[in-house]
Amino acid sequence: MKRKLTIVILVVAVLSCLATLVACQHKCTFGEWQTVKEPTCTEQGLKERYCTDSSCNKKEEEKIPVNENNHNLQPVDGVDATCTTEGTVAHQHCTLCGKNFDGNKTEITEVTIPTDSTKHNLQPVSKVDATCESDGIIEHNHCTLCGKDFDTDGNELTTVTIPKGHKFGKFVYDYDAKNYVSTCSVCSETKSENAGSEQFPLLVRNEDELKEVVNAASEGDYIKLAQDITVFSKIVGNNYPTLLLPDNGTLDLGGYTVTVKYNGGFLVEGTNVTLQNGKIVTDYEDPKEGYAVFIGDEG
Ligand SMILES: [Zn+2]
Ligand SMILES: [Zn+2]
Ligand SMILES: [Zn+2]
Ligand SMILES: [Zn+2]
Repeated sequence: MKRKLTIVILVVAVLSCLATLVACQHKCTFGEWQTVKEPTCTEQGLKERYCTDSSCNKKEEEKIPVNENNHNLQPVDGVDATCTTEGTVAHQHCTLCGKNFDGNKTEITEVTIPTDSTKHNLQPVSKVDATCESDGIIEHNHCTLCGKDFDTDGNELTTVTIPKGHKFGKFVYDYDAKNYVSTCSVCSETKSENAGSEQFPLLVRNEDELKEVVNAASEGDYIKLAQDITVFSKIVGNNYPTLLLPDNGTLDLGGYTVTVKYNGGFLVEGTNVTLQNGKIVTDYEDPKEGYAVFIGDEG
């Protein structure tokens, strides 16, 4: 019995030794490498091959080195720069390594086009006339991007507003109102000498005030002499007559050429005008109310 067992053990040992011998003697013969994963510009690839012995079928794997020329390129359209936004050069962008390339696969480092202060998006704006009550707009081009305005020659404009306002004419004496009145040529609104005083800013009541005012006045300024009749004197150049306002109210204009107007119309040109008892007296006319006296040539 013991001997039988010994024999069985021997047989098993011999068989297992034979099997091991067969296994040890097999030398794998591998087939062609098959690429499992192509290498890219950022990642290694992978290839594998198998033992051609179907009972073995052993697999070998090997990494394929990074291929720095194998990018995943996506086309990017070119965008022009404007006055407010940067542009982009048309190019190919690799989604893997992030590099950019031109059409010849040459890497480009800068695809941004700087903003261009001359590339406006101009919209024409038509002229709007100003009225007495509302501002107008000059004809121009408006950039919808940067908001700047330009004339038709491309020069930048700091303002396109035509200021509103009345077009008042010269003050004309209103005999009934005993007042000087200016009328807007557009809407016929009127203003009296006291309403908008820019044309008659200076009120003179005596000779000392007159000298002060004349010294401070500029060419073209008007001087209002406070008398019982309104007389305006216009400064011409740096010259002014020696205007004397003595108690008897005589206005001595010296040797200056004097133009006397009445209700806006010319009556007399002469050299001798006096103010007597509140009325202008010339060599040629009886005293009348409502004269304006301009010293020198009326501007
Ligand atoms: Zn094998
Ligand atoms: Zn890449
Ligand atoms: Zn612009
Ligand atoms: Zn008006």
